Amino acid sequence: MQGKIIKVSGPLIVAENMADCKMFDVVKVSDKKLIGEIIELRGDKASIQVYEETSGLGPGEVVESTGAPLSVELAPGLIEGIYDGIQRPLMSVYQKYGDRIGRGIEVNNIDREKKWLFKPTVKVGDEVIAGDIIGEVDETSIVVHKIMVPYGVSGKVKEIKQGEFTVTETVCVLENAKGEDVEVCMLQKWPVRRGRPYKTKMNPDMPMVTGQRVIDTLFPIAKGGVAAVPGPFGSGKTVVQHQLAKWADADIIVYVGCGERGNEMTDVLNEFPELKDPKSGEPLMKRTVLIANTSDMPVAAREASIYTGITIAEYFRDMGYNVAIMADSTSRWAEALREMSGRLEEMPGEEGYPAYLSSRLAEFYERAGIVKTLGSDEREGSVSAIGAVSPAGGDLSEPVAQATLRIVKVFWGLSSALAYKRHFPAIDWMVSYSLYADRLTEWYNENVSADFIKLRAFANGVLQEEAELDEIVRLVGADALSYKDRLTMETAKSIREDYLHQNAFHEVDTYTSMDKQYKMLKLIYDFHRLANDALGRDVDYEDIINLPVREKIGRAKYIPESEIAELDAINKEINDSIKSLNGGGEN
Ligand code: ADP
Ligand code: MG
Repeated sequence: MQGKIIKVSGPLIVAENMADCKMFDVVKVSDKKLIGEIIELRGDKASIQVYEETSGLGPGEVVESTGAPLSVELAPGLIEGIYDGIQRPLMSVYQKYGDRIGRGIEVNNIDREKKWLFKPTVKVGDEVIAGDIIGEVDETSIVVHKIMVPYGVSGKVKEIKQGEFTVTETVCVLENAKGEDVEVCMLQKWPVRRGRPYKTKMNPDMPMVTGQRVIDTLFPIAKGGVAAVPGPFGSGKTVVQHQLAKWADADIIVYVGCGERGNEMTDVLNEFPELKDPKSGEPLMKRTVLIANTSDMPVAAREASIYTGITIAEYFRDMGYNVAIMADSTSRWAEALREMSGRLEEMPGEEGYPAYLSSRLAEFYERAGIVKTLGSDEREGSVSAIGAVSPAGGDLSEPVAQATLRIVKVFWGLSSALAYKRHFPAIDWMVSYSLYADRLTEWYNENVSADFIKLRAFANGVLQEEAELDEIVRLVGADALSYKDRLTMETAKSIREDYLHQNAFHEVDTYTSMDKQYKMLKLIYDFHRLANDALGRDVDYEDIINLPVREKIGRAKYIPESEIAELDAINKEINDSIKSLNGGGEN
């Protein structure tokens, strides 16, 4: 039985005679063999979202089901890949077909010719189950790709190879419980809309350190956590995402770029491959998979792209890696969802978004987490997900921002006022939060310092007080403030300018270790505490504020990690210089 097109509406087509098909089956449309996916079935009629340009299609043309859901290919060759939303490799397409993705093109997602050096990690006679690692491939200079027994497969190793193989050649033969041979190659497939299985999901209890002070100190994200970065145009969403890609303590990065406009996406394609991995000095691409959707690419592929991305992220998680996935921006993704829903003539919800917007967003974010992976060893891996949200005009009451807020546990709200003042990252401390903060306390106590949490509370407290004092100053003027309050205002300024402000483009300032974050914050804390004591001894306010050591506190961020001991010297100077000030009319 063969389906026939009865209607074409942009990226959506309706075909009849499709009773044999299943929801989410991938179909080939017309003799051009355009790729589509069934997103609605009613009787024998199927609505199909087509991942390619549909112009020129018309009623009567054939539609054939492949009988399989939309899947990604998982194998060596993923890293450094630059893909579209359904994992078609943009570079090979480019080389083969010129600058735009042609229609109905036939390219493999993963290179079939390239040979990889497979190094076995099991021997004949070993019993293996799904998820067990049978061998390794040095995929890039920084990523070891673990070859795992695919889901649903287990048995006794009957034959294991060593040497150079393509991803589809057999590297291992297992004898299963029924005594049959099962051939295993380096390539697996997985349907993108289904999370990959694991043994157990655990509670996140360690941070994903990012080297960004406002994040690690005030609003930390856990390994396996979910965060959103909402903000208006130009507030720094992309810079935050890039900083995390570069510096977050993750082994693998999956970056899903949904272009705001065509040229912004070209930026991703040009800029991302230029980024250096600070840890290895190699290009960041050597541990990155990039998924790119320009606004001139078909809208349906953008809808699929975040699932393609997170499936790839889960696959590396299953190897035991910490993976971070960034989606920039989920608002453009939601617009794709809205367009498809409109074409389906579904009942529109708020601002035209479909009622299932929240559940679809949740399906994406819920696949993040820290897990015990399949396999007989005790392997753990994590996927941390960070989505940018770009509401028009920065209005957080719109549906995508609201739906995201109900799901994520960390909210880094970017403010245009801060960006305008060039306070970067423009993460507004008055609205941002992290629901992981409490759960990570133990980690900070053990790995940073027993008083780090106290310093965080101090910083938060001073910033809150500043907001209240600001209000008083607005009403009655700065002269009405006591010296203690003035000191608090100065300290708040120091926290904002010397600590939270961080220049992504400064060679040293771009990254701060936890150790240095602690020492920097301690400078501000100790200065504040000792200055308060000094005021109690009637030391002149101006004498305290004009101490030359304050300038050193301001420049502490530019002290390289290798010279971190200098921060201790500054701390000593704070102690000595404030304590030496005489108060109470002694001078
Ligand atoms: P968005 O993605 O929200 O539209 P971008 O991330 O492109 O905004 O940031 C806009 C500009 O703001 C950047 O080009 C850069 O000049 C500046 N900027 C943002 N964050 C930082 C930062 N952490 N350090 C220095 N400059 C920044
Ligand atoms: Mg951006």
